Amino acid sequence: MTMLYADIVMPLAQPAYCYSVPDALRDEVRRGDAVVVQFGRRNVYTGIVWRLHSDPPAVARIKPVVRRLYDRPLLTEAQMRFWEWVAEYYMCSLGEVMRVALPAWAKPQGASYEDFAADEFRPRTEPYIALAAPWRDRETLRAECDRIRRRAPRRCEALEAIALFNPASLTADGEAPRRLLPFDGSLLAALRKAGYITVAERERRVERSSKAVFDPPRLTPAQQRAADEIRASWRDGKAVHLLRGITGSGKTEIYMTLIAETLAEGGDVLLLVPEIALTSQLIERMERVFGSRVTSYHSKLTNLRRMETYMRLLRSEGGELAIGARSALFLPLAKLRLVIVDEEHDAGYKQSDTAPRYNARDCAVVLASLCGGRTLLGSATPALESYANALWGKYGYSTLAERYGDAVPPRIVVSDTVRAVKRGERKGHFNHALLAAIGEALDKGEQAMLFQNRRGFSPFVSCRECGWTMRCPNCNVTLAWHRASERMECHYCGYTAAVPRQCPQCRAADLSPMGFGTERVEERIAELFPEARVARLDRDTSTSESAYNRIIRSFESGETDILVGTQMISKGFDFGRVSVVGILNADNMLNSPDFRSSERAFQLMTQVAGRAGRRAAEGLVVIQTAEPDNPVIRRVERGDYDSMARDELAERHAFSYPPYSRLIQLTLRDDDPARLRRQAGRLAELLRERFGRRVIGPVAPPVDRIRGLYILRILLKIENGRPMSRARELLREALAAAAREQEWKHINAAVDVDVQ
Ligand code: ADP
Ligand code: ZN
Ligand code: ZN
Repeated sequence: MTMLYADIVMPLAQPAYCYSVPDALRDEVRRGDAVVVQFGRRNVYTGIVWRLHSDPPAVARIKPVVRRLYDRPLLTEAQMRFWEWVAEYYMCSLGEVMRVALPAWAKPQGASYEDFAADEFRPRTEPYIALAAPWRDRETLRAECDRIRRRAPRRCEALEAIALFNPASLTADGEAPRRLLPFDGSLLAALRKAGYITVAERERRVERSSKAVFDPPRLTPAQQRAADEIRASWRDGKAVHLLRGITGSGKTEIYMTLIAETLAEGGDVLLLVPEIALTSQLIERMERVFGSRVTSYHSKLTNLRRMETYMRLLRSEGGELAIGARSALFLPLAKLRLVIVDEEHDAGYKQSDTAPRYNARDCAVVLASLCGGRTLLGSATPALESYANALWGKYGYSTLAERYGDAVPPRIVVSDTVRAVKRGERKGHFNHALLAAIGEALDKGEQAMLFQNRRGFSPFVSCRECGWTMRCPNCNVTLAWHRASERMECHYCGYTAAVPRQCPQCRAADLSPMGFGTERVEERIAELFPEARVARLDRDTSTSESAYNRIIRSFESGETDILVGTQMISKGFDFGRVSVVGILNADNMLNSPDFRSSERAFQLMTQVAGRAGRRAAEGLVVIQTAEPDNPVIRRVERGDYDSMARDELAERHAFSYPPYSRLIQLTLRDDDPARLRRQAGRLAELLRERFGRRVIGPVAPPVDRIRGLYILRILLKIENGRPMSRARELLREALAAAAREQEWKHINAAVDVDVQ
């Protein structure tokens, strides 16, 4: 017999390694299986069998696969093709995809086999009960019951109950969980002894309702039209559809309608949201319609729950609605027919810090097409990439331009901060126009939200005498002053220090906070409205899920009147009583150097504004800015997405930025700035030999040192129409050439395809 080999993917930034498959496992091991393998001298890993073959590898000693895990492959065929696409497109190893794709408990590892076994997932089990073979036939059982009824009425009752047990709660093998049967142990033991029933310990299963008819809300005519358009364009062969609907127009209701149709046909649905912690409201709404069909999956679940969810879906027969943040893309949904990406423009879909640096929205489109399913992208302010695809006819496109019911879009007022100062119409960080609106809302028992894009009390403190500011020792940024903790904090590396009492440079005691963050806004607004109850929602106050939920719930129930927060307050909330929204400092959004800053500022302001007046009362939004005539502000004011998009697209076209090109960003880091400059320069040369003027840089980013490492960036701009696969090939070549230099091994290089 020829030897059998397996190429095994391990959770490493390395290619697959070849192992031999021992004869004892030969018939057992399949593609997609999780197996135990030894790697190096000291590590035992979980690996995934990627390829089975009989090509003897070049190396002399080859280790065997130790054993197989689980009773079935951990990955479906479609998932494996999806992982391959992610690794190829985002230029990382399959092992790095494995790191994000599988729950921690699905891939135990250890320094020894004992170690490994201690980590291994053991499903919770419980007894399951079924009728023994001869009694599964109804007639036979009835005759038997009639025979023993007089003598053993309780046995008879139990047998009939088991036979009639709610089919929806039975396992696929027709077994009923013991815990749902209202009989005592001695009776069941007797039945078993007499050969009527079998009892088996099985992995605990979660009961699902088999209900296949759902009651999504009745759509309004406008919503109905959009839903029809979506179905029609899918039918016409456009697999991806973009739905642009203003906040409060009822996009969620359209999702529900399409989800209900897909589930009723036995298909699976994946609903992606940018950040699961911020969408408990959405999950509740989905559960009201789809009940136990809903599975949520995100990083806040315990490892056990994540593992159980993964395994349950792996065994599912279809009809699942999985709701999750970007990692939910990797769930095993064998019958995936519909993927919905809510708030598709959100930057939270991009994983930027570690490989794979993937964008879940773009991955969703690919995943759906690999599974033969459809994609629906929803947003009030689509990403220009998606909007362009709609304009170019690649995606279907529908709009919803009015709010549901009597709710009307909020009135937006732009309030000039410079003029307010000149006229003495400003108190603290607030223009009189905003304060008047808040006062009026509070008088009527309504609520207000205040948005400030910075947390902490102030972004830095500065000496009034000599201008000294306190900086992070590890990063090239100032430390922000946090009043609640009385610490100076670095928002890049988390470094903290005591608040200085005097200037270390000139000994002056006159240190003053510069600029303002959410803490300072909270404090000032509480002073100005002493009767109002004020709360703050940002990273500092929502350290746990329960703390976060408490803040949301108390605002929802009206226990708090004013909610101050960072972009955390902008997302997805449906609060009925908010009539005023204040955007305190629009300028720091407009003035970032990123080419996407106008688009982002428009999206963020529109989204925050959308929290106002979601029920019958008209909402009011006050935008404070020093540049009231900035075109982006004017467009937010008019709710004019199309003009914003048109202008931005023209500009992107002129400078060949996305969506007219794709960007690949290389980030190089090193603790030695001179060596970093040399190596980055050399890499840029190697790239210019291949890409010519498509190479930009190296340039230092605005914060050019983080955690003690200096940073330089090189950008590649690949115009549309140029094949990306060739670009990746050339890039790999250049990186390989750069790595031939001795010094390169000190450089940490990261590739980010479609950088945000
Ligand atoms: P979006 O997701 O577009 O911001 P929502 O789906 O949250 O909008 O809808 C806004 C509000 O209007 C919600 O409270 C929702 O329950 C209500 N709503 C929208 N459409 C309907 C409908 N067809 N039937 C009943 N309520 C609806
Ligand atoms: Zn000083
Ligand atoms: Zn720092």
